[in-house]
This record gives sequence, structure tokens and C-alpha cells, in this order.
Amino acid sequence: MSWKTREEMEADEQRVLAPYAQKSGESRGRKYAEPRHAYRMEFQRDRARIIHARAFRRLEYKTQVFLNGTGDHLRTRLTHTIEVASISRTIARALSLNEDLAEAIALGHDLGHAPFGHSGEEMLAQCMSEHGGFEHNEQSLRVVDLLEAVYPDFPGLNLSHEVREGLQKHRNENRTTLEAQVANLADEITYYSHDLDDAVDFAILSPAQLEEIAVWRRSHAAVSARYPEAREPQLHKLIIRDIIDVQVRDVVKSSAEAITTAGVKSPPEVRQHEQRLICYSAELCAANRELRRFLYENVYYNPRVAEVNLQACEMLRTVFEAYVSAPDSLGEGAMKRIDAEGLHRTVCDYIAGMTDRYLLEEHARLVARQIQ
Ligand code: MG
Repeated sequence: MSWKTREEMEADEQRVLAPYAQKSGESRGRKYAEPRHAYRMEFQRDRARIIHARAFRRLEYKTQVFLNGTGDHLRTRLTHTIEVASISRTIARALSLNEDLAEAIALGHDLGHAPFGHSGEEMLAQCMSEHGGFEHNEQSLRVVDLLEAVYPDFPGLNLSHEVREGLQKHRNENRTTLEAQVANLADEITYYSHDLDDAVDFAILSPAQLEEIAVWRRSHAAVSARYPEAREPQLHKLIIRDIIDVQVRDVVKSSAEAITTAGVKSPPEVRQHEQRLICYSAELCAANRELRRFLYENVYYNPRVAEVNLQACEMLRTVFEAYVSAPDSLGEGAMKRIDAEGLHRTVCDYIAGMTDRYLLEEHARLVARQIQ
């Protein structure tokens, strides 16, 4: 048996994927031209480059919602990312879209997140308010375009146009591939479900509170009908599983209908279409708005979550200011970027790239240095 060539794989994609799926062989390419690979397609290469990136490995020690290290079962930004990739693949496969592309975007989507979750992002944005700001999606692009520096022939990872476009999700949100839209919605489905799960495990939500949310009530009823004997600690896991299933089924069905109604026949037609075609039904969309509001009120701004994150953020500010006043305490790679990027942007990139625990270590080191 001989191995399969890239050309054969690309021919498989043409045969198997839907006409509106983004084919690897039709990629707009990379900023720095590279020879094509013998047996790997373009989006496969992108996925591998992201997985092998330093910024990807650091996701393990970055806060998703609960401060990293708070509990061994709670999600980190890495496990969140892997769940997003898994759900992206499920939706992409069911709709005959390009799984490699959706997965690559999912794996890269949070590379630009600062330590300490959203509070960390807000603090870094505050520190940068007079120096161009900070936003995690833009930072994900800086990571893959500039900050990962391991390839001798080009800066960054030199990812394909379609993966980069998928990482830029706040811009032109509708004017992108269906695969990027899949990764975007899979991110939402993932955090809705796992933040509820973690909040129950972390005992900041009570069963009575959860009954306030329609999404929860519906899945609770479905689980109780099927497993009348189910009790905690298993019960909420079954409910969460059902919630994910309901959401994914809804997206697959609603998106298939939206694609048919729009009549799109190719990726360019998808880009020209006004609305996003990967979508929830109107009913679930409304239910999810309620769920999101509930999560903000009861989880993200819960004192047990927000207060520890705020303390950590104060340390972030201290470290930021310490580097600005003493740039020689930055790492070697960062110091080399000061001329090209400016001092504040360099400090911001450096801190955004840190894990929670490295920032805590740096805080201890820099404060000790100031005291001397
Ligand atoms: Mg995410």
C-alpha cells in the first residue's frame, strides 16, 4: 500500500465536502509563500502549527473563569479550547464542512487571552488605554503573526488566510467562511455549558437558582424522564450533557435550513451573504440570551469568582508598571521588540503571553527588586 498524496486528499475534499465548504486546495494562501506539503493539506498544517506553538501550551495555566489552580477539575483555557475544537468538528462534520479548518480556528481562538481571564483582559486594556488598547481577538492574531518566533523563513506561524480570518472574529463576523462561524458558535456553546458545570462543582450555584433558566429546566426535565433515579453529583453532569446535545442539534438543523434558504453554492457566495448562516433557532437564541445574562450575574460577577480575579489583576497592573519603568526586567525576546513595537505594546505582549502563575512569580520578583 502506498501513502496518500496531498493532491488525492484535496480531491477527496472536493468529492466529500459540501459545495459551500472551504476546500484546502482553494485557500487564498499564506503571506509568505511556502512549498506545498507532500501529504498534508493547508489547514492540517495550520492546526499542527498552532498545537506546537508555545502560546498554545501556556493555555494550560491560564484562567478560563475560575482562577487557574483553584480546582483540578475546573476548566482551564486549554481544556476549554479542546472542548471548542471537539464541538466545532461535530458541527462541521454534520454539515459537510471542512473539519480541519474549523478545528484549526477553534484551537487558535483563545491564544491571545491574557492571564486571569476576562478581568485580566480588562485590566490590560486599562493599562493600554492611551497606547492603542488591548483586545484578545486582535492579540490572537499578533501571537500567530508575530510573537511566535520559531520559523527561520518568516515571522509568526504564517497561517493561511482562512485561519487568520477566523481568528479575527469581531471584524466582518458575517463575511467569513462557514467554518469560522462554526468555531465561533461552538465557543459559545462550550462556555455556556462548562461554566454552568464548573459553577455547580464549585458550589456557587444552587439547584433552585438553576431552575430559573429555561435552558436548564428543559434539559433537567429530559434527563429526569430518562433517568428518574439520577441524583447529584451525577445529575448535573447529565443535564450539562443534554444541554450541549440540544444546542448542537439545534445549530446543525437551523444552519442546514439557513444554508438551504440562502441558496449559497460556494464559499464566495457565503461571504457575500448578509447574515450569518451558522445559527441557533430563534427560540434557542432567546433562551441563550437569558442564560448568558444569568451567567454574568451569578457566575462571572459572583464575589467568589470576581474578587480573587480582581486581586490577581491588581498584581497584573503592578507588573505592567514595573516593566514600563524598568524595561531591562523584560525577557530577552521582548526587549528586542521595543524599538519596532514601542515600549507599552511590548510590555503588553509580554504580559498577555504569560500564564497566571508566571505572572504571580514575576510579581514577587519585581516587588522584591523594588524593595531592595
Ligand atoms: Mg473561547
